[in-house]
Amino acid sequence: MTTALITHADCLNHVTPTGHPERVARLEHVLHALEPLDLRRVTAPLAADDDLLRIHPAGYIADIRDARPEEGFTQIDGDTFLSPGSVDAAFRAAGAVVRAVDMVLGGEVQNAFCAIRPPGHHAERETAMGFCLFGNAALAAKHALDHHGLRRVAVVDFDVHHGNGTQDLLWDEARALLITSQQMPLWPGSGRPDEDGAHGQIVNIPLAPGTGGAEMRAAYTAQAFPRLRAFKPELIIISAGFDAHQDDPLANLNWSTADFTWLTAELCTLAQELCQGRIVSTLEGGYDLNALAAASRAHVQELIKAAT
Ligand SMILES: [Zn+2]
Repeated sequence: MTTALITHADCLNHVTPTGHPERVARLEHVLHALEPLDLRRVTAPLAADDDLLRIHPAGYIADIRDARPEEGFTQIDGDTFLSPGSVDAAFRAAGAVVRAVDMVLGGEVQNAFCAIRPPGHHAERETAMGFCLFGNAALAAKHALDHHGLRRVAVVDFDVHHGNGTQDLLWDEARALLITSQQMPLWPGSGRPDEDGAHGQIVNIPLAPGTGGAEMRAAYTAQAFPRLRAFKPELIIISAGFDAHQDDPLANLNWSTADFTWLTAELCTLAQELCQGRIVSTLEGGYDLNALAAASRAHVQELIKAAT
């Protein structure tokens, strides 16, 4: 079995204003870092509207399409911009996770990493925000549940920011366990432990500024892994943001690249124990280019190790 790398050149055509942290160079660095690795390279399709309708209403999808500028930028919120290439990039990003779920559940590959942008975990049902247009991780979960008929999926979000969008999209979804760790306090401000979903199936793990690898490992070991074991997911989806890295400029956690290796390896071991190793991982944040490259490479190397 192999690991799929799913991406599309359109994701490099989502341009943001000069100085914006969520920039084209991020994905270029990730792809460059993954170049030497033994991966099955897959071109991301455009998501179909029928896919996106699992998480966003038709009017919202139409609004995103209509916001595409002929040139320059459309600003959607304080820090979310569309360039002429952004709509196609967003549809490729969503299409990537759908394809990843199809490939992993179809037994074509053991696991998959979607190297995509824009990221997704801040996009709520009817609100684009925080660099995100479509809720990619929640879409992967819904596609696995509704299209493939799985009964239980888990989403693990280790981006340093709270996955408020994924939480919003999966709030009522009893078939999806969401475990999300985030620095608190930090934008967007949500992610307290009492935000636990309509069925108690959301686990928020706030981490104080300065939290390093040892505390992170203890928190995941105590709060995340037992919930995953108890829930027995048939697929694990990872919102893989690398901005908890100690070098990241947007936040103040102190994880090292080795901590991302450890966390990925633990999730692979759990996936092996619980769901035949099935993992779909999708890129979220990570804004120091070198740290992003190193940590995403470490993450994918563990996926590859688990697939062989
Ligand atoms: Zn983030």
